[in-house]
Amino acid sequence: MKLLEKYFLPSDYFKEFQGITPQYLKERGIRAVIIDLDNTLVGFDEPSASETVLKWFRTMKDNGIKVTIVSNGSRVRVSEFSDPHDIEYIFRARKPLARSYRKAVHMMGMDSSETVMIGDQLLTDVFGANRAGLKSILVLPVKDKDGWATVVNRRIERIIMKYFDRKGLIQWGD
Ligand SMILES: [Mg+2]
Repeated sequence: MKLLEKYFLPSDYFKEFQGITPQYLKERGIRAVIIDLDNTLVGFDEPSASETVLKWFRTMKDNGIKVTIVSNGSRVRVSEFSDPHDIEYIFRARKPLARSYRKAVHMMGMDSSETVMIGDQLLTDVFGANRAGLKSILVLPVKDKDGWATVVNRRIERIIMKYFDRKGLIQWGD
């Protein structure tokens, strides 16, 4: 079972992305963030950035922390969300492959050791981060509902989460 931990255990977990502050990141030597879009920043079926999202991006920017969206979504989905706000992104990232993570780290001019991945899925976001050698933070999905591509992943994820819960590695508290 060590393999489950090696590949799917995040470095930390938060209920919501907006709970992650510049201070928290700086204390851990993090200067750049790769963040998932669907069900991490907004629901998978919400086309636009919310005020909460924009405020969080501004706070990160004001504190010198770079942020890039890395999404498996289509060009249209990711660009419609990001372009109006000048947010950097990679679409069709093919997470959990490590390639897009490395590309995003490079785009931000950072080192993998000072970059964290934030996302709502163990099988894509966290798995990819662990393969790429990045720290990762798991968040709860914004909505219970997922896109069709995620439904099977969630079933597997629930099994892994039960294991982590039993071992006291991830406990959401309710
Ligand atoms: Mg997601």
